[in-house]
Amino acid sequence: MTSQEISSKLCAECGFCCNGVIFADVRLQDGDNPAGLPGLKQARSGPARLPQPCPALQGLLCTIYARRPGHCRNFECLLFQKVLADASKLPSAQRTVASSRKLLLRIHKLLATLGDQDDHLPLSRRLQRTARRMERQGDDPILADAYSTLTLAAHQMNTVLQNKFYPG
Ligand code: SF4
Ligand code: SF4
Repeated sequence: MTSQEISSKLCAECGFCCNGVIFADVRLQDGDNPAGLPGLKQARSGPARLPQPCPALQGLLCTIYARRPGHCRNFECLLFQKVLADASKLPSAQRTVASSRKLLLRIHKLLATLGDQDDHLPLSRRLQRTARRMERQGDDPILADAYSTLTLAAHQMNTVLQNKFYPG
């Protein structure tokens, strides 16, 4: 399969490298044109960053695809690389994406139960903030139960990301 075919058949069902699950932001590189990049954050030092979840992502589609930053153009997760190299078949990769998205949905619901609705923040930050809040919050058994389920789901997500998505 070509990269383009994988993008249209796999990435179009995924979005993990744009929605704050894999990255917390995208650093601009030499040659990137910052004009028109939504939500761009100018750092005091170092390169400007496009926050994630990316404001250019609508549903699972990049609305600035033709002028996306170099990092976005160049990134291929392990799943993508394996399909490209014919080391995995597309349907198997699609099943991994579908189950990972289901797990993400479950994590989002648990975060909401625990009072975190900040879906504009990257997942790692939301999990850290929730952990800190739970440390302060004492022993409500219902919240403690939801937090323990969230901890397991987050661990499961980390394992999936390590084994299936993080390249090399
Ligand atoms: S994480 Fe991988 S499969 Fe998902 S959108 Fe990014 S490159 Fe495509
Ligand atoms: S610019 Fe497009 S490809 Fe890059 S992170 Fe945002 S939505 Fe994804």
